[in-house]
Amino acid sequence: MSKVLIIGAGGVGKVVAYKCASVPEIFSEILLASRTLSKCQNIASGIGGNKIKTAKVDADNVPELVALMNKFKPDIVINVALPYQDLTIMDACLQAHVNYLDTANYEPKDVAKFEYKWQWAYNDKFKEAGLIAILGCGFDPGVTGVYTAYAKKHHFDELHYLDIVDCNAGDHGKSFATNFNPEINIREITQRGKYWENNKWIETEPLEIHRPIDYPEVGPKESYLLYHEELESIVRNFPSLKRARFWMTFSQNYITHLHVLENVGMTSIKPVIYNGMEIVPLQFLKAVLPEPSSLGKNYTGQTSIGCIIKGIKDGKEKKYFIYNNCNHAECYKETKSQGISYTTGVPAMTGAMMYLTGKWQGKGVLNTENFDPDPFLEALNKYGLPWHEKFDVELT
Ligand code: NDP
Repeated sequence: MSKVLIIGAGGVGKVVAYKCASVPEIFSEILLASRTLSKCQNIASGIGGNKIKTAKVDADNVPELVALMNKFKPDIVINVALPYQDLTIMDACLQAHVNYLDTANYEPKDVAKFEYKWQWAYNDKFKEAGLIAILGCGFDPGVTGVYTAYAKKHHFDELHYLDIVDCNAGDHGKSFATNFNPEINIREITQRGKYWENNKWIETEPLEIHRPIDYPEVGPKESYLLYHEELESIVRNFPSLKRARFWMTFSQNYITHLHVLENVGMTSIKPVIYNGMEIVPLQFLKAVLPEPSSLGKNYTGQTSIGCIIKGIKDGKEKKYFIYNNCNHAECYKETKSQGISYTTGVPAMTGAMMYLTGKWQGKGVLNTENFDPDPFLEALNKYGLPWHEKFDVELT
């Protein structure tokens, strides 16, 4: 019996609220708080049965967060607002003595750059307070770290090569939309690419390296090498890795739209003056694009995300692939949400459940690969993201 505070009533927050409400024996009291109260209330009334309380909070404001936490007294906060709020929410958790979990690492608003260093720097403070902060507990980051830990625990003596492969073969019927917060999504994709090889990071032009990858039940899809945040923690936690890369699919239509938007300056985060007012072009673009939480209704197709790993077991080379496929329409039937929100929200709920049931323990700031992967993967099978294994898979 535990109290959970969910911060952020967007696409992912909605799934976290639905999933927590479906396990009342663990999440006995749920408070959903966000910047716009009506969004919390819509989600709560969609779930029904007075299962969810709601509140308005500005998560950039530490005293406001502390007041809310002191009033509700949650056992854990699930932060599914934006990466910009990670540090203020962590500060508030320290002040109100509450455990913390998020799905994306901190990013300063004025620089399109994400790194764990800002949040890892809180390790001593969380340890001294006897609290845990679980970072990056969505799908990627999140499940991908757990998959890697599972591979090491059960299939390899040494991991050598890791390719995280992320395919969305779904169709939402819009000309252009992003599956999670447009501002965060476009900042991530327009960055320079980066991967780990032979003990150093290699940088590429944005979306410079691409090739078809054959995804289970989907087939070959053009996939682009991106820098993704879990590479930083996985490389640190599995130092035997000689190479670690992240690949994501984009349709030609998506790439064409993105190029046009970039070329006309709409993806810039530098403020411009418009009608005497300062606006950030990317924030304006977000305001005119569909909200990720609105995409679910007519979404068809599926996602396929996993880890292809090569390494050594008993002195012999071994290849291993662990993955999940998730159907958008099924997600909508269950939670009125599309598959990307679902594949992020289910692991966030599951990570909180692992902590609250004592299956994941520890103090300080930890990433998902730092914990025992077995109970988490068992729970994913039960709560909507079953995983599968293949052996002898090549990255084509
Ligand atoms: P949305 O934009 O749909 O939702 C974000 C929510 O946060 C909105 O409801 C927004 O409020 C709220 N919010 C923003 N700023 C504040 C603030 N200052 N105070 C209170 N609430 C605030 O995004 P998503 O749900 O798609 O994404 C949520 C998080 O999940 C992001 O951090 C994203 O990076 C992460 N993510 C992680 C993935 C993974 O696999 N690890 C995959 C996909 C997403 P309002 O509605 O009023 O704007």
